[in-house]
Amino acid sequence: MKTAFSKEVMHVGEIASGAALTVPVYRLKGQGKGPSVYIQANMHGAEVQGNAVIFQLLEILRETKLNGDITLVPYANPVGCNHKNGEYTLGRFDPITGVNWNRMYHFDADAIAPFAREHLNSDNITIEREFKALLLEEIDDKLDHNIFGLTTGQRIAYRLQRMAHQADLVLDLHTGPISSKHLYCPEYAIKSASYFDIPHTIVIPNEFDGAMDEATFCPWWSLQQAFAELGRDYPLNKESFTVELGSQEQIDLDVAHQDAVSILSYLQHKEVLNDTQYQPQAMTRYACYLKDYKAFYSPMGGMVDYLAQFGQPLAAGEPIARILRMDNYGDGDPLHYLSLDHEVIPILHFASASVNQGTELYKVFSKFFTL
Ligand code: ZN
Repeated sequence: MKTAFSKEVMHVGEIASGAALTVPVYRLKGQGKGPSVYIQANMHGAEVQGNAVIFQLLEILRETKLNGDITLVPYANPVGCNHKNGEYTLGRFDPITGVNWNRMYHFDADAIAPFAREHLNSDNITIEREFKALLLEEIDDKLDHNIFGLTTGQRIAYRLQRMAHQADLVLDLHTGPISSKHLYCPEYAIKSASYFDIPHTIVIPNEFDGAMDEATFCPWWSLQQAFAELGRDYPLNKESFTVELGSQEQIDLDVAHQDAVSILSYLQHKEVLNDTQYQPQAMTRYACYLKDYKAFYSPMGGMVDYLAQFGQPLAAGEPIARILRMDNYGDGDPLHYLSLDHEVIPILHFASASVNQGTELYKVFSKFFTL
């Protein structure tokens, strides 16, 4: 019954002292009868809960019979999780280039149409094999044949993407700052969102903006579109999600177990395993389109008392936060209540109580609906 796993230490770069930047890679072998899966965690330095979820997944999956192969990568970004300043982990942006670590993946939209024309009359198995080979070739080309070199972050991203491209289902585990659990789901895969025990889903357009989820589903979705334009139906069986597990800077192994079970419910639905104990929980699942997922910026500087509960619809005019301004005490207004003029669902808020005018205070669902 046990599933053997292997461990590899992948080299993703070198720091100035010559020490290697490495990432651990765990592989569980399935029986070759189901979709393959790639799961990574901690691309952003402070977003550590996914490592605990991978621990819980490994503990369970070693005792579970698998149809498809599963690759698990904790500590996906060895620079990010070590990027500390005082008590805090930074690690959202490469400190040298300023680029978000999760915006450095690769997608070449121009390669899709020529491939579709060339393979208009190929069978589906050939198309899948050849298209996957093309995606890997593009990454290998970036890694090995680029005379002008790569940034630190690109090298890490491409090494990870090379593994992700080999899987059918991709989960990139993140967290918000102080946050509820939420899921980024491509529009075409919206039905799958209800198999995760996650009450909030952000429906993203089927477009590329540099992130891992987009970099792995966009090529296949675009291929399907290119075939459709040529009058051919091509089945799309690849899915990618960014799973936001809660707040940064903390792990909770008990919650990580629940998160692992939630992922297993999705994988059971996809027939990666055959274990009917993994079923989605009954819950109200709210969703909103990315364009309606709004940042609420502080209208003033000050000290914030965050009032709104995550995940609960907040009526128009109800206070979302109050801002303390002690500099105004005695000769002005020391307390300011903030509210919005329409109903929203607060999803996450800024990690600190001290904010500037214009700091992103909350992110909220507006124009939400239930799945
Ligand atoms: Zn993140």
